[in-house]
Amino acid sequence: MATDYDAPRKNEDEQSEESIEELKARRHDKNSGKVDEDETEAAESFELPGADLSHEELAVEVKPKQEDEFTCMSCFLVHHRSQLADAKKMICRDCAA
Ligand SMILES: [Zn+2]
Repeated sequence: MATDYDAPRKNEDEQSEESIEELKARRHDKNSGKVDEDETEAAESFELPGADLSHEELAVEVKPKQEDEFTCMSCFLVHHRSQLADAKKMICRDCAA
C-alpha cells in the first residue's frame, strides 16, 4: 500500500520540477530576443499571488511628492517631514548630521 502511494507522488514531483525548468528556459528565450518590457511582463506573470507587496512598494517609490514630504536640497531625496532637520534650508537629517 505504501508503495502504491509513493509511486504517483514521485511522478508528480518530477513533473512540477520539469515544468519549472521549462518555464525558466522559456523565460530565457524571451529575454534574449525581446525588449525589457516583455521581461517585466514575464516576471509579473511568473510571480505568485502573494507577492503583490513588492508591487506596492514600487508604486510608493514612483508616486509624486506628498504634502507631508519634502525634497532635501542637499541630497535631493524625498523624505518624510519627520526627517526635516532644517526647514529653512530644507535639509534632511542625514545631510544635517
Ligand atoms: Zn538630504
